[in-house]
Amino acid sequence: MEKSSKFYKKIGIMGGTFNPIHHGHLVTAQEALSQFKLDKVIFIPTGNPPHKIENEVASAEDRYIMTVIATSSNSNFFVSRMEIDRKGKSYTIDTVRQLRKIYGKNSLLYFITGADAILEILTWKNTDEIVSLCKFIAATRPGYNLSRIEDLRKRLFGKAGAADEKIYVMEIPALSISSTDIRNRIKHNRPIDYLLPERVSNYILKHELYK
Ligand code: ATP
Ligand code: MG
Repeated sequence: MEKSSKFYKKIGIMGGTFNPIHHGHLVTAQEALSQFKLDKVIFIPTGNPPHKIENEVASAEDRYIMTVIATSSNSNFFVSRMEIDRKGKSYTIDTVRQLRKIYGKNSLLYFITGADAILEILTWKNTDEIVSLCKFIAATRPGYNLSRIEDLRKRLFGKAGAADEKIYVMEIPALSISSTDIRNRIKHNRPIDYLLPERVSNYILKHELYK
């Protein structure tokens, strides 16, 4: 880790649809906070996709509220409305640029993703600019192979070694939880208990989401 890191503010960015937020997201953020000694983690729910499938993606407002409910008891977790309030499609580059402006040069931004999402970096636009503005923490996730990250590093940075400073792999306790599975369970009246915070499942029930 950086030698002089104690002089910087270290900010974790946890982007996602959070449709709904679950314990996989929360464990990932908490582990990043502790393993990388971050000052805080900001959860940033995405705006609604333009062609959303009815009942598949809860409204941005509902996803935002569920994210607030799930994170409110942790004093190092925060939620930002920046993507849901932004007009048009959300691009990660816009979010990272905006955060860079807010936190200034003397901060280190860590974009936290699961092993699946990091690979999407290959399809992002402005990849070079993104990696110049923030570092990445890729959390292990059951069913996703991390060896492809090595290819990704080579592709982005040429030499594998140089990229170690940009993309960190983080081991976390394996949680085979996904929002897709939770939505399917709700649709088929199967239990979702213990996969996500109880207060979030109560919110889902109350507002009849994902039925
Ligand atoms: P969906 O099934 O709808 O895609 P998801 O469970 O993958 O939902 P997202 O909102 O897509 O959740 O994920 C946000 C971020 O959290 C992504 O970087 C994803 O890789 C990571 N993530 C989600 N679930 C886990 C998990 N169980 N372990 C590690 N990382 C996870
Ligand atoms: Mg996903």
